[in-house]
Amino acid sequence: MAKQPPTLMDSIVSLCKRRGFIFQASEIYGGIGNTYDYGPLGVELLRRVKEAWWGAMVTERADVVGLDSAIIQNPKVWETSGHVGGFSDPMVDCKKCKGRFRADKLEDARCPEKPSKRPGECDGELTEPREFNLMFKTHVGALEGSASVAYLRPETAQGIFLNFKNVLESSRVKPPFGIAQIGKSFRNEITPGNFVFRTREFEQGEMEFFVPPDEDETWYKHWCQARFQWYIDYGIDPAKLRLREHDPKELAHYAKATSDVEYEYPFGWGELEGIANRTDFDLSRHSEATGENLVYFDPQTKEKYTPFVIEPAGGINRMALTFMIDAYEEQQLEKDTRVVLHFHPEIAPITAAIFPLVNKEGMPEKAQEVAATLRKARFSVFYDDKGAIGRRYRRQDEVGTPFCITIDGETLANDVVTVRHRDSMQQENVPIAELVPYLLEAKGNWKRP
Ligand code: ATP
Repeated sequence: MAKQPPTLMDSIVSLCKRRGFIFQASEIYGGIGNTYDYGPLGVELLRRVKEAWWGAMVTERADVVGLDSAIIQNPKVWETSGHVGGFSDPMVDCKKCKGRFRADKLEDARCPEKPSKRPGECDGELTEPREFNLMFKTHVGALEGSASVAYLRPETAQGIFLNFKNVLESSRVKPPFGIAQIGKSFRNEITPGNFVFRTREFEQGEMEFFVPPDEDETWYKHWCQARFQWYIDYGIDPAKLRLREHDPKELAHYAKATSDVEYEYPFGWGELEGIANRTDFDLSRHSEATGENLVYFDPQTKEKYTPFVIEPAGGINRMALTFMIDAYEEQQLEKDTRVVLHFHPEIAPITAAIFPLVNKEGMPEKAQEVAATLRKARFSVFYDDKGAIGRRYRRQDEVGTPFCITIDGETLANDVVTVRHRDSMQQENVPIAELVPYLLEAKGNWKRP
C-alpha cells in the first residue's frame, strides 16, 4: 500500500512529542487510555491559556471573583446535582472483540481488530445500549464499604454552587456577579479521544454568573458573545468558529438554553466551550437537599430571589489543542518548508529566544545578560547557542516563539540586538535599553497573519 502523507492531526501529535508539549501518560508501561502528560512546553502553553482565561473572566472584570474548591466533595452533592442518576452515556459492547463504544458516537469509533471498519460493521455483534456512568468512584477513609464511596468531580461547577452563600457573605458581591474556577475534572470517557480533545482527566475553566431571574436572557446573550469573541481575540480563525444554539431536544435537564462555541477540527466540528442558562436549578436543588437558604436578599429593593445562573464552561486542554491546530502551518519557502505555530504572543510558551551569533568573542556572556534582563521583566525566555542561526530560528518557529533575538558584533559594539519576527521573518535592530518596551508593544500589536 502506498504510504499516506501525515494528516494534520498526525503532524500535531508528532510535534507535541518531539518538542515536549504532550506525552502519552505511563508511556514506558504501555500507556493508559485517553490520558496524557504535559511536558515543559505543554505546561507553559496550558499556563498561558489559563492566564488568558482568568484575565478575561476575573482580573479584567469588577463583577467576578475566583474560587478553588475541592475535587472530592460530599457524595450527596452528586446525587443532588443529578450526576449519580444521570451523568451517563449509552454504551454498547462488541460480543466478539469485547470492545466498548459509545452508542451515540459509533460513527467516530473503529473496530479494534479491523480498524478500517466501524463497530458492528465487522463480524462482531453489538449488545443493546446500556447507560454507563462517567463518574470515577473512590473511597474515603480506611474502609472500603459503600458508606465511604466518594466521587472525583466530573465538573468544577458544583463546587461553585456549594460556595454561593460563603462567597456572598464574605466578598461584598451582589447579583449580577460571577464566581470563576479553573481545575481538574474527571470523566471515565469511553469514546476514542482524538488526542487530548477528549481525555479522562482534564482541566476546566468554568464561571457561574448569578443574575436576577428577569435578566437571564440578556446575560446569556452577553456571555455567548463574549466567549466567542475571546477565541478570536487570541487569534483563532473566525472562519473555523461558530456558535451553535442547542435544539430544545438536546438541552441538559438543568438548562433553559445552551450554545456551544464550536471549532472545525481536522476530524469535524466539535465543542470547544458551552454557554448554558442553568436557571435556578442548581441553587434550588442544593437548597432543597440541605435546608440551606440559598437565596439573595436585596437590601435596597427588599426583594428575595434565587438567582438564575449563566455558565460559560470550557476545557483548558481542548483550548490549548485548538490553539495549536489553528496556529499550525507548513509554509512553503523558496528553498524549503518551515513548520510554524502562529500563536498569539500571549499564548506562546516561549516569548523570546536569545541567540549569540557565535559561541565566542563575548557574545554568549552578552546574550546571557540580555536573557537575564528579559527574565526579570517576566518574559519566558529560551537561550540557545548551538548550531546555525537559520536552524535555531526554525526550531523556535516550530514551537511558536514570536521573537528571536540575536546578539552579534553590533551588540558588542553598540548594545543593539536584532529582533526577528516569527510570522513575517523580518528583522529589526533594537537598542538593548529599549528591548522590553519594544517587545511589549510588538506583543500588543500582534495580528493573525
Ligand atoms: P462533550 O459533548 O464533548 O462530551 P460536554 O458537553 O459533556 O462535552 P461539558 O460538560 O459542557 O462538556 O464541559 C464543558 C467543557 O469541558 C467542554 O466544552 C469541553 O471543552 C471540556 N470537556 C468536557 N469533557 C472533556 C473531556 N473528556 N476531555 C477534555 N475536555 C473536556
